Parts: sequence; C-alpha cells; structure tokens
Amino acid sequence: MKLLFERSVAGRKQTLFPELDVPEVKYDEALLRREAPRLPQMAEVDLGRHYTELAKQTHGVNDGFYPLGSCTMKYNPRVNEQVAALPGFTDIHPLQPTATVQGCLRAMRELEGMLQEICGMDAMTLQPAAGAHGEYTGLLLIRAHHLAHGDTARTKIIVPDSAHGTNPASAVMAGFTVVAVPSNAEGGVDLDALRAAVGPDTAGLMLTNPNTLGLFDPNIVEICQIVHEAGGLCYYDGANLNAVMGHARPGDMGFDCVHVNLHKTFSTPHGGGGPGSGPVGCKAFLAPYLPGPQVVEGEDGTLAFAYSDQSVGKVRSFYGNFLVAVRALAYILTLGREGIPEASTGAVLNANYLAHRLAEVGYTLPYGERCMHEFVIDCGPLKAETGASAMDVAKRLLDFGIHPPTMYFPLIVHEALMVEPTETESRETLDEFVDMMARIFAEAHEDGERLHGAPFDCPIGRPDEVTAARKPHLRYEFE
Ligand SMILES: *Cc1c(COP(=O)(O)O)cnc(C)c1O
Repeated sequence: MKLLFERSVAGRKQTLFPELDVPEVKYDEALLRREAPRLPQMAEVDLGRHYTELAKQTHGVNDGFYPLGSCTMKYNPRVNEQVAALPGFTDIHPLQPTATVQGCLRAMRELEGMLQEICGMDAMTLQPAAGAHGEYTGLLLIRAHHLAHGDTARTKIIVPDSAHGTNPASAVMAGFTVVAVPSNAEGGVDLDALRAAVGPDTAGLMLTNPNTLGLFDPNIVEICQIVHEAGGLCYYDGANLNAVMGHARPGDMGFDCVHVNLHKTFSTPHGGGGPGSGPVGCKAFLAPYLPGPQVVEGEDGTLAFAYSDQSVGKVRSFYGNFLVAVRALAYILTLGREGIPEASTGAVLNANYLAHRLAEVGYTLPYGERCMHEFVIDCGPLKAETGASAMDVAKRLLDFGIHPPTMYFPLIVHEALMVEPTETESRETLDEFVDMMARIFAEAHEDGERLHGAPFDCPIGRPDEVTAARKPHLRYEFE
C-alpha cells in the first residue's frame, strides 16, 4: 500500500479555506518559515480512500472475534458512545467552576459509588489513566500507609510468577523491590512459598484473581491472611474482574486496595492505544491517601472537589479520562444489578465451553478444562509432535479474520495461547473459532513446517518481530 507522500502530486490541493474576514496580521519575518512544509498534496477523495484502505487492514471487535486473553475485548454497546457524546459531558472545561458542572460531578460520584459496591471498597479515585497507572497509584497508597506508621522497613512487594508484567514494573516504579513467589501445581499461589516470603520487610502482595491462567485461587482468604499477619497489605489487580463482578468482591476476599480497568470490564473500545481508565478503590483506612481532588457531597447535595492533607498527590492532570468514566457509568446502569453478574456468568460459560471443545479437538489444557473467564492452551505438545508453535497457530488464525489469542503469556506456560472469548460472543462465533482451530490442528499434523509461513492471505506476512520492535520505521524518508 502506498504512503500519502508517495501518492502526493504537486499542486493538487484542497482549497477549502474561506476568504479572510478578519484583519490580516503581519508577523515578524524571523518567525516565518522560509520553505513551504513538505505536506502531501492530494484531493479529498483520494485522502478519504487512503484512510479507508488503512482502516480495512486493521482488526477490531466490529470486524470479528477477538479472544485476546486478559484484555477483555468485549463488544462495547453503542449507547455508551451516545451518552459520552452528549454536549453536557463534552462541551465543558476542566477549570470550570464546580457549580456549573454539577451533573458531571454527579456522574463521577455515582460511578465511584457503583465501583465501590462492585469491588467491596469504601472509597475510590477515577484519576489513574489505565490499569498499570492504577497499580502504581495503589502502591503509593500502601507506601503512604506504612510511612504514616513509621514503618520504613517495608520495602518489598510480593508478586506471583504468573502475574502480568505491569505488576512488578509498577512496584519498582513506586520504589519497592519485587519478590516473586512460585505457583503451585494447580496454578495458584504456593502457600508455603508465600509464608517463607513474608516478613517485616513485606509492604504488600499484588494478585490477580482469577489469575492469568484463568483460575480462581481457592486459598485467597488464607493468602490475604498470611500477608496481613506479616503486616503487609493486599493489592488486587482488577484486570480480570469480568470473571467475578456481581458474584465475588475483592474487598470480601481480604484485599485492601484494587484497580479496575474500565476499558476492559466496563466497556470502552480499546486496543489501539486509546484512552483507558484505571480507577483505584480502597478500604477506609487508606482513603486519606487517595489522589486529590475527591468529589465530595455537601449537606445540601452540592458536589465539590476536596483535597486531603495526607493525599499522595495528583497522579494525573485534572480528574482522569472523564468520558471513559461516563461510558462505564452508562454500561453499568444499562446492565443493572441483574446484568452485571449475568455478564460475568456469560464470560465464564463461554470460556468453559471453548476450553472443553478445544480439548476435544486435541489441544492441551495444562490446568484442565475448568476455568473462569479465560484459559491457557499449551502448544508445547503440538510443537513437539508437528513443529508448529503457538506463534504459528496464532498467525494462521489471521487468515481466517480472527484476532489471535494472547501469545507466550503467562510466562510459566512456554507455548501459551491465552484465550478470552468474553460474554458478548454467540455460540455460532465460538463454534466457528473451534472449526478454525481444528483446521489448524489438522494442518499442523499434515505439514507443521508450512505453518511457519502463516499468515498466507494477509496484506503483511510475518514481520521480523525483533526488528519491528527495536527498529521501527516510522518516518517517511524524503529524497
Ligand atoms: C491489562 C492488564 C493490566 C494492565 O492494564 P492496562 O490498562 O493495560 O494498563 C494489568 N494486569 C492484568 C492481569 C491485565 O490483564
């Protein structure tokens, strides 16, 4: 496909500027550019076609199945977009007097309240811009709590070896050192290893439950107890909340602090690096440390912003990605008390159905067919038998218009494909996916080597991933 610069024809421009109807201003010569900028010159229709062609080469939830594990690529109902586009939410300024944006503050406060209820927490901030940012914020709360108690020796955060990479990264950014604990044979936290890891230097534990293997840790209450008895706090990475919302609450499991990925669980389009939101909830004893400002309600019902003296400070400008919060509020209000648990039930049902059917096809499920909202396939046996790897299976799926599952994660399964179908997919879609996976399984057994060349029918074949990541070619080189 040609670049805009390659399609450019000198002199072909779009003269869309209206005639000047204000006095012309003469700038200082020194401020003016000497040469015209090297912009592509083309007609509007060609520009439109260029971007349409580009858009057709991308893949989104509106194009097809997107079982990218841990990312919860569910369908985002359009009504959320309509609500978030209302002028009362979009035509405001962050520095506007609060008396003039009471509706927006009400939306923030209501969403906080609903998330508190879903998570079993007492207070909330909508400020963090993503899950990882929420982790960082939550860890700052934990740090502030220990320091407020003169507990300067608590410098270590315990993270299971199945954790998402952002967990140890956030811990380091928040000034902690990371202690990894191994998983047990069932894929949960090894309790003896945890007991051995905790001590007077333990600041806390970070955990996803269900974890990245899609398994709910049955020892969760005991895990939190072990950490609490050692004087540490428990942080819940809420990225997998789609598996349990409305059924189980991190606060009831024993967690002190949690983030929620609004763009995953509560339905905002994501995947292209667009705005996310990672609200952080905490128990009352951590609330004074939350980033400011907090939305507070006066006795007459007026909402205002308030700052706590003990706050860790702002983690982001203003009040977070407000319109993502609006979408989440619209989503929760649409589903209601019945719909929220029904959504997670559907997510778990779909994942179990897929896991069972893929096991029938012959794929290896290292932790069994029972799972929560996602599960991990181990392509190790397939590779040993046929030479076709998890990467080959994933790349071949592209030919069928299916976004591959998450690959090579979690790290404890070496040839991992992590599948998360979500609740918004129909049985027909799941069955089609199984058919394609069965076809790839058969192809691997016929000629495993051939699959190293997949995808065969996509605009781009198989780029060298290392070069693509390390030396991306992002600029047009003018002659
Ligand atoms: C997605 C995810 C994160 C990070 O969230 P972002 O919003 O992408 O920053 C953390 N942990 C788990 C388990 C995740 O799936």
